[in-house]
Amino acid sequence: MLSENIEKLLKSIEETCYACDRKPNSVMLVAVTKTVDPDRISEAVSYGLTELGENKVQELTSKYPLLPNFIKWHMIGHLQRNKVKYIIDKVKLIQSVDSLKLAEEIDRQSKKNSLKMDILIEVNIGEEESKFGIKPEEALEFALSLQAFQNIRLRGLMTVAPFFEDSERVRPYMKKMQTLFKDLQGMALPQQSIDILSMGMSNDYRIAIEEGSTMIRVGSIIFGERHY
Ligand SMILES: *Cc1c(COP(=O)(O)O)cnc(C)c1O
Repeated sequence: MLSENIEKLLKSIEETCYACDRKPNSVMLVAVTKTVDPDRISEAVSYGLTELGENKVQELTSKYPLLPNFIKWHMIGHLQRNKVKYIIDKVKLIQSVDSLKLAEEIDRQSKKNSLKMDILIEVNIGEEESKFGIKPEEALEFALSLQAFQNIRLRGLMTVAPFFEDSERVRPYMKKMQTLFKDLQGMALPQQSIDILSMGMSNDYRIAIEEGSTMIRVGSIIFGERHY
């Protein structure tokens, strides 16, 4: 089951890339393992998945010691400032930076641990009440303000796009993200290399790839529907 799901997904990513004239290796797959138990995650890892995403600090830190240390962990959910210290030495990328106070704390904890943390700015592209993230029109100014932090490296943008039954309707939002991403690259911020546009989930990853995503975060297609 798991191996077939992964095989099918990788094939679909590859086909989508070729159809829009992109190289398959220009899209990184982050497998979202929230609510999935460590044994099933281990199995998925044995089929070649190495980039894993969790949205809760508690879940990430409890699974962390149970999985191989070559795993690259991504924090993809809303992060409270007081919990940054628990993950700072465990994650490769914090994708969900949505306030200056949070950035400040990540910088502080990174300094303490003598590291530089890669981060993405989470953008609430649909401007939905229910979602976290910086307003699209404030994202570039926010990026500028991050320049103040020595121990943070801004790598790009992340979004959880609005959900539509008909996934084609998400395309305008993804186009908007792509524009914002290019504008951010165009700012040519010193010390930063802006190369990650994280968008696309199980229902809309193909459209995300067509609209320039460099990182998709996929859960339910791999592991099945989640049971909370
Ligand atoms: C759960 C989650 C995903 C994956 O969602 P699926 O629809 O299961 O692919 C991606 N990104 C974030 C931030 C999530 O919380």
